Amino acid sequence: MGDWPVLMTFTYPHEAHLVKGYLASNGIETIIHDELTAQVNNFYSNAIGGVKLLVSDSDYNQGIQLLKDGGYLVEEDAEPEDKLEIVLADQLTNKKICPFCRSENIAVNHKPGVLFYALCVIMNMLIMLGAVSLLFKSSFKCYDCGKEWKFKRR
Ligand SMILES: [Zn+2]
Repeated sequence: MGDWPVLMTFTYPHEAHLVKGYLASNGIETIIHDELTAQVNNFYSNAIGGVKLLVSDSDYNQGIQLLKDGGYLVEEDAEPEDKLEIVLADQLTNKKICPFCRSENIAVNHKPGVLFYALCVIMNMLIMLGAVSLLFKSSFKCYDCGKEWKFKRR
């Protein structure tokens, strides 16, 4: 048995089974990895890299082609995920208004960073409540002009 590279990853086990069935009907054998971990706690799925569908080395290229043909794999003309603008700030900067249009109609976004997921696994959900604010990266959004930004010390 040669190498079994990861053909595709999924958040939920049933998605992996769907594709496994599709590939099997086309004569390609696959193995599903990390299915149980994701089943026990869906929250862990992303942290462990998702549910993995493995395919034998020799079937890899055909598997990719089948995924494209079946619409499971879409060539992404990916919109950049990070549309954040960097705004230089100091102590005098008013962080309660939009730096672009001066609107006060803004909100702060808290997105979990990579460290957040890593700690959740390592500490097995024992997140120290006091440290939560250190684990989130803050950004801002203006509901008037639609801009998103974060502040950086100048
Ligand atoms: Zn604005």
